Amino acid sequence: MPFGALAFILLTVLVIYLVRRSAPKRRPPDLVPEKNKVAVILLEEIRFYQRLDEPSRERFLHRVMDFLSTIRITGVGATVEDVDRVMIGASAIIPIFRFEGWQYVNLNEVLLYPETFDEQFRQQGNGRSVLGMVGNGHMQYVMVLSQFALREGFRNKTDKNNTAIHEFVHLVDKTDGDVDGVPEVLVNHQLAAPWMRMMHDQISEIRKGKSDINPYGASSEPEFLAVASEYFFERPELLKEKHPELFAMLDTIFTPHTRKTPAKI
Ligand SMILES: [Zn+2]
Repeated sequence: MPFGALAFILLTVLVIYLVRRSAPKRRPPDLVPEKNKVAVILLEEIRFYQRLDEPSRERFLHRVMDFLSTIRITGVGATVEDVDRVMIGASAIIPIFRFEGWQYVNLNEVLLYPETFDEQFRQQGNGRSVLGMVGNGHMQYVMVLSQFALREGFRNKTDKNNTAIHEFVHLVDKTDGDVDGVPEVLVNHQLAAPWMRMMHDQISEIRKGKSDINPYGASSEPEFLAVASEYFFERPELLKEKHPELFAMLDTIFTPHTRKTPAKI
């Protein structure tokens, strides 16, 4: 073999190795439920899906199947059932459903723990109050969810909470590199300042005890975005009635527009 050809082959192998090494590891999932079964669970368990018209349901189902065929879901001390897979897939798609072709490039795997855990992902000991978390450092590309909180999020019809949607909103927020409550992919330049102002006003209302929004939302801007989004996707009619301006703003944020202008009521 001429030296030039050999050098070319070696170079190609090296480039492929480097590209594969730098790309996040994405292992194929072990088990993806059948499409018909996913459709049945969506209809039984997911109110967001129940509210959609038929063509939108078909698109939602397709997006959930796509998510489940690319993201691995692993139980850690918990047995992962199809209902958990479908609920995780639905929580992933709900926030970005209006964004065609959205892929979670910052996620490879969801770990399902049975109950609460602590900030070091320990399932034993005191101070375990975490129900969901987006990983950092060596846990980059991993989300951890409590199975109990995942199911409760969809089955409790009267609260405004949904842990899994909350964590996926953090992941959307993280797409631009900063979890800061201003996801630049959704909040463009014109919208950033009004959105920041609205967040600060809402946070101060919560701190004064004058809001029905979960007080956890007052802990920081990213938590406000995640908590308000839970309310928006879980109880849209109630949010619209109680906080029309916040509802309109979130509706604008979670809708793709080429030119976003601040929402007006
Ligand atoms: Zn959070």
